[in-house]
Amino acid sequence: MNDDLFRVRFWGVRGSVPVSGAQYQRYGGNTICVEMRCGPHTLLFDAGSGARPAGEELMAAGVDQFDLFFTHCHYDHIIGLPFFFPLYNPRIGVTTWSGHLAGRMTTLEMVSEFMRPPWFPVAMEVCRACIGTRDFVAGDVLKPQAGVTIRTGNLNHPGGCIGYRVEWGGRAVCVISDTEHEPGKLDPVVLALIQDADLVLYDCTYTEDEMLRKRGYGHSTWQQGVKLCEAAGARRLAIFHHDPSRTDDQLAVIEKEAMAAFPGAFAARDGQTLEFPRLKLSKPSPLRQATRQSTANGKRRSVR
Ligand SMILES: [Zn+2]
Ligand SMILES: [Zn+2]
Repeated sequence: MNDDLFRVRFWGVRGSVPVSGAQYQRYGGNTICVEMRCGPHTLLFDAGSGARPAGEELMAAGVDQFDLFFTHCHYDHIIGLPFFFPLYNPRIGVTTWSGHLAGRMTTLEMVSEFMRPPWFPVAMEVCRACIGTRDFVAGDVLKPQAGVTIRTGNLNHPGGCIGYRVEWGGRAVCVISDTEHEPGKLDPVVLALIQDADLVLYDCTYTEDEMLRKRGYGHSTWQQGVKLCEAAGARRLAIFHHDPSRTDDQLAVIEKEAMAAFPGAFAARDGQTLEFPRLKLSKPSPLRQATRQSTANGKRRSVR
């Protein structure tokens, strides 16, 4: 693995529910899972059905430490978790993070409530990996690994959702999913997170026309993503969290329209990879290094 690259790989880009069929081959049918390699560190965002192939391939590639961040725990963002095979390997460490249920449910409670009978054949206790669970509050700045800084904020979604800005090597990549915008307004939380970002993954479930009928569903549009990126000086916009009924041909039309409006836009597809070389920066100061891990308040635990 190249330690001088910030690599983003899409393992699942579909919202709501996985889909399969001839009309979904080009953009893919797995629900949300995004890998970020920050030099030697492997971060994952959400464990939708894309987490199954992600886990298999990354484990085969020798990755043995994962930080897995949840935006929230609607099914399309967690359904792949029981099939994320690194969880069952005793030589692997997986640290899970969430903040959308702060004060209501811990990350450990959220994961263990989901992975248990009668919804799944076995409980989390069968997992042999060293599993850590971390809790945070929206607005916290996380330092999961040396050199990686993650800023967080609340998005506008039923039940809550966390937006992330991941900084490493002078680069910034943001995950803004799921969120609903108010017509005619730019969400100041989103704007702050995506300021000058190299890449923004944005919830583009609907078009502006569809949005008229979908108010209150908690999602947004590619047109709003373009407005936000332009206002924040972000360079690239990944249209993702595609509506499950959106066919390849329809997505290609959306992609073309979005690129005409904002040249940095593209419709994300399963398996797609983007790479951002580390920018030449001066060495981090001792003060910045000393703040590492300072905001994480959870504990590691082993499940045997
Ligand atoms: Zn979703
Ligand atoms: Zn959701």
